[in-house]
Amino acid sequence: MTKLFLLGLDGATFDLLLPMIDEGHLNNCKKIIQEGAYGTLISTFPPITCPAWTSLATGKNPGKTGVYDVFNLTSKNNLKYSVMTSKDIQKNKPLWDYLNNGKNKIAVVNYPFLFPPYNINGIMISGLGSDPDDEIFYPENIKNVIRKMFPNYKIDIPFMNEEYLDDPNKFFNECKDLLYQNEKMINYLLKSKYDIIIMVISATDLAQHFIYKHIDKNHPQYDVINSKIYYEKFIEIWEIVDLIIGNIIDTILDVGNLIIVSDHGFGKHTKNFYNNVWLEKKGYLVKKTNYISRIKLLFNDFLKKYFPFIQSKIVIYLKSKNISPRLEKYKSIISEINMDKTIAFMPISTSGQGMIFLNESLINKKNINKNNICDRIKRELKYSLNKYDIDVKFISPKEIYVGKYVKYAPNIMFYLNNFEISVLPSLNNREYLSDAPKSHTGNHKMNGIFMSYGKDIKYKGKIKDLNIMDVTPSILKLFNIEIPKDIDGKIIEKLFI
Ligand SMILES: [Zn+2]
Repeated sequence: MTKLFLLGLDGATFDLLLPMIDEGHLNNCKKIIQEGAYGTLISTFPPITCPAWTSLATGKNPGKTGVYDVFNLTSKNNLKYSVMTSKDIQKNKPLWDYLNNGKNKIAVVNYPFLFPPYNINGIMISGLGSDPDDEIFYPENIKNVIRKMFPNYKIDIPFMNEEYLDDPNKFFNECKDLLYQNEKMINYLLKSKYDIIIMVISATDLAQHFIYKHIDKNHPQYDVINSKIYYEKFIEIWEIVDLIIGNIIDTILDVGNLIIVSDHGFGKHTKNFYNNVWLEKKGYLVKKTNYISRIKLLFNDFLKKYFPFIQSKIVIYLKSKNISPRLEKYKSIISEINMDKTIAFMPISTSGQGMIFLNESLINKKNINKNNICDRIKRELKYSLNKYDIDVKFISPKEIYVGKYVKYAPNIMFYLNNFEISVLPSLNNREYLSDAPKSHTGNHKMNGIFMSYGKDIKYKGKIKDLNIMDVTPSILKLFNIEIPKDIDGKIIEKLFI
């Protein structure tokens, strides 16, 4: 019997759910809001997949997990980075490892960046960040079961591919197919009587990145003729998610609890800010005049744009050489920068937020005061962007992170116009500002969701001040497991009263 179903809905936010509910949709979400406990779940900064899902699973802040992004600094002096793997989650003891105490049969399915999967009493299937062709199944024999059920097993949809812009219905159909796969998987897990099911649905996030221009009437790319049609399609996507939720409630209601979470919220994406281009213009970053690496980079961009098929072959080649293609991409950006002359830079990042690192070895060599240089960069950044009516909010790493990995946090962190403007590391733009691309019009924000319903959830109504790190300690309490002292999240006591 399923005692707990933890359902992750990537990118879900009440900013979108409540209007849909008011319009008469999503009856099961409405039921949870009316009869269960819910509230806004504040994400990590940056509010993105890797740190957010890691902090959610472990109850610890990025200063302790060391996960700020897909790529994380492991040495400041020689600027070494590592790509996030399941080890980064495992070494901080995630929720499922506490529950893996011999009493529970556990399924962890589609959890982002939980790759490679590892030994658990049950099954583990990696999610976003891995490829269906990778070894994403534990134990290995579950692979045959899943492959039989889903000959065409999918993890995500490359929503930024140009083909979807020409034919948005193709995107919606693929999104629905991915959700039907999720639905079938959930039915299988429920029937297989796992005690604990932890599963993440990613289609919600992918759809919102792609479709946001049609959701928000104030988006500069909102289109009076087509947006209404596509908003209806977006609701259809969410109606499938709502049916999945209804099915889980019906199956586990009397015996277990359903907890729904998202890793971050969502809002519109209107512009891009190219952080390294700005740093170069201000003299903090110097590019290499290495023509070979520049040509390689341009060639790579060219392939990606016009011949994605050939590029994917290169990726497969790199994989066969055991080099992570993602790391290769990072190297290509860093190899563009002349570190003998660069004071500050943004390494490759999926954060979409301002993450500036100082080149500490040069700064130490030149005896430059770290605080002074940070203050100067911040002042100039504000001055440059305020001219374009862009609001810059700085976040102090020392104020929001604690733990032994705070030293690897970026030196300067910021976000622009309440997360509407993406901050990107690309070096190849002439100007440091551009409009958002047509295929990426929604951005992550801090306000995720928490919803819970079931036999042990006593509280009805809205709960304030919930943090993504509170989920794991609250679930541990549900299972009467003692909360270790190094967990940063708090038990959401109200749930049980
Ligand atoms: Zn996303």
